[in-house]
Amino acid sequence: RAKADGRGTYCFFRDEMAATVEARRILELDLRKALANEEFELFYQPLVNLKSGKITTCEALLRWNHPVRGTVSPVDIIPVAEDMGLIVDLGRWILRRACMECMKWPDGVSVAVNFSPQQFHQRDVLSEIRYALEVSGLPAHRLEIEITESSLLRNTQLTHDILSQLHALGVRISLDDFGTGYSSLSYLHNFPMQKVKIDRSFLEGIDTDRPLTLLRGVARLSADLGMSVVVEGIETNEQLALISADGTVSEGQGYLFSRPIPAVRVRQLLNASHGRRMPDDQITLVSS
Ligand code: C2E
Ligand code: MG
Ligand code: MG
Ligand code: MG
Repeated sequence: RAKADGRGTYCFFRDEMAATVEARRILELDLRKALANEEFELFYQPLVNLKSGKITTCEALLRWNHPVRGTVSPVDIIPVAEDMGLIVDLGRWILRRACMECMKWPDGVSVAVNFSPQQFHQRDVLSEIRYALEVSGLPAHRLEIEITESSLLRNTQLTHDILSQLHALGVRISLDDFGTGYSSLSYLHNFPMQKVKIDRSFLEGIDTDRPLTLLRGVARLSADLGMSVVVEGIETNEQLALISADGTVSEGQGYLFSRPIPAVRVRQLLNASHGRRMPDDQITLVSS
């Protein structure tokens, strides 16, 4: 039909677009209900001190247990939630849940929470964070906020002020996925941040053909600027050995240590690795 004048093609694309729009609309409706229906869950992935082998921090990673689709990845959730303006409510839930969960862990272990650009740039982000600490009882030094380079792009002066105030509060700021996106080395000394997480793309092939030069360079520079350096996405012992060799990298994260795991399993893991069991009443103090 209508091939000659191209109408067939046009109709095809229009139908496909309509289907995409419809799928998106359904996703948005489902997302709105998901918060109320308690379909979201936080998994946690440890960050390990490379010298001591101890878990220093666990990063909260969002999962959506969709009644029909099964587990939906945060990569598919966060951008849609940002577009819908739902990220503030969702982010609030994530932050509070993560802080409450951290209260069940041994004192020496912190929690890391990812903030999307819109969430980070919401008007009352400081009161959001202060409130989450207050209601959970978590000391500020046990909270780490992970932001990406895209959060540093806009409204530079305001961003700088927020970061300074968070630092004054005692919360750590960690620059996530460093080396992807709009990477600029100047971010590392222009903004008050305490940690840098070097993206796992820097690890690709380093245990076989690719030289370590780039990874080492970024790690050394960050360390020289007084930042604590994390390498994410460590999957093999070879990678771990290469990264640990010169002592610049302080922490590692990746499947080699642990995949992201449910809250209950993190509690078991932490209590075992910290060589003590928590009394049961302490575990159930905050219901999850
Ligand atoms: P991210 O913050 O950089 O988190 C690391 C991602 O890499 C996680 O994927 C983790 O499962 C994965 N990963 C960890 N170790 C390895 C490894 O050794 N190999 C490989 N191949 N992958 C590894 P996940 O959980 O699917 O999250 C993806 C991204 O979604 C996160 O990247 C973060 O940007 C975003 N995200 C997740 N949870 C949240 C959240 O609560 N809020 C916001 N704003 N973003 C979130
Ligand atoms: Mg992260
Ligand atoms: Mg990361
Ligand atoms: Mg990443």
